[in-house]
Amino acid sequence: MSRSVRVVWDDALTSYDFGPGHPLAPVRVELTMALARELGVLDAVEVTGCAPATDDELALVHTRDYIEAVRRVSATGRPDLFHGLGTEDNPAFTGVHEASALITGASLAAARAVWTGEAEHAVNVAGGLHHAMPSAASGFCVYNDPAVAIAWLLAQGATRVAYVDVDVHHGDGVQAAFYDDPRVLTVSLHESPQTLFPGTGFPGETGAEGTAVNVALPAGCGDGGWLRAFHAVVPPLLREFAPEILVTQHGCDSHALDPLAHLMLSLDGQRAAYAALHELAHETAGGRWVVTGGGGYELVQVVPRAWTHLISEVAGRPLDPATATPPEWRRMTKERTGQTAPLTLTDGRKPEFADFSAGYDPADPIDRAVMATRKAVFPLHGLDPLP
Ligand SMILES: [Zn+2]
Ligand SMILES: [Zn+2]
Repeated sequence: MSRSVRVVWDDALTSYDFGPGHPLAPVRVELTMALARELGVLDAVEVTGCAPATDDELALVHTRDYIEAVRRVSATGRPDLFHGLGTEDNPAFTGVHEASALITGASLAAARAVWTGEAEHAVNVAGGLHHAMPSAASGFCVYNDPAVAIAWLLAQGATRVAYVDVDVHHGDGVQAAFYDDPRVLTVSLHESPQTLFPGTGFPGETGAEGTAVNVALPAGCGDGGWLRAFHAVVPPLLREFAPEILVTQHGCDSHALDPLAHLMLSLDGQRAAYAALHELAHETAGGRWVVTGGGGYELVQVVPRAWTHLISEVAGRPLDPATATPPEWRRMTKERTGQTAPLTLTDGRKPEFADFSAGYDPADPIDRAVMATRKAVFPLHGLDPLP
């Protein structure tokens, strides 16, 4: 069987648009796909469209009452504050149901392709709307596409699904959807809830059987600290859990330039995380890997380059960080945003980290965060929290 990689894309995915001035501007995915296309990244994959998620599919996670409410807002453009629509974070707009259902449909298409074996890996860069709750919009997210995709996998008979969320914000909506369900392991690495939205994601939130895992990193954490924490927590848990399929959310708002958060990663550090997750998908999940985008609000300097690296990694042909950005893409970026595009795919960093197994410093804030998580969940998985 040929093992292909699928990128789910439809230009209509850019209709998920909360309007001028909102941080989640669809130009970020438009510029991502343009950069990937110009660099030939899409030549190595199969690009397919998608259908919007049906109400029955959305109802795998969301209440019927909420879906009806989103449809009403969608038809009238009028706010529904009870369901979180019409706030500063989640403005009401006509067409919001259709735009949101299409994003969920794209993640479902990715999950379906991987689950049926049509593709080994599949990616939806427009997805990763991890804050949406069963009956409310939250944090720029209306329908929770990763949660719906995971619920769909369970409905197909999957019994062990792992979800790893590297967005700078806690993956609260996905955690909430499966908090009491030991079939789903959710792991979120994020900036501490003490300094960042949504205010959850403490290590003590462990789910029923330690299947909710939270690594709450201190503001200011850079590549070395982030990768040290990732490697101290994620690989041992994935090896122990042995998922049938891995779903990952790749919000790139952990970057130092992101205007909404306070971690200090570089593109080079984020790229190292993508490569690590790719390796873990093969090692622990038989290569079955569903990939989504997520947050990321530095629309020109960060998102397009981060997710072009992501697609190229998923495609098995990771781009050299020194690669120059194509002139045509630079022109398009200037025209669409008025900003000067970056010239290469790197921030010029060499991400290195010291492995936790060599010992830790109880006074170091990153090591304290790691130990809090390991102490909270490792024993529930039969793992020793001490390195
Ligand atoms: Zn985020
Ligand atoms: Zn692969």
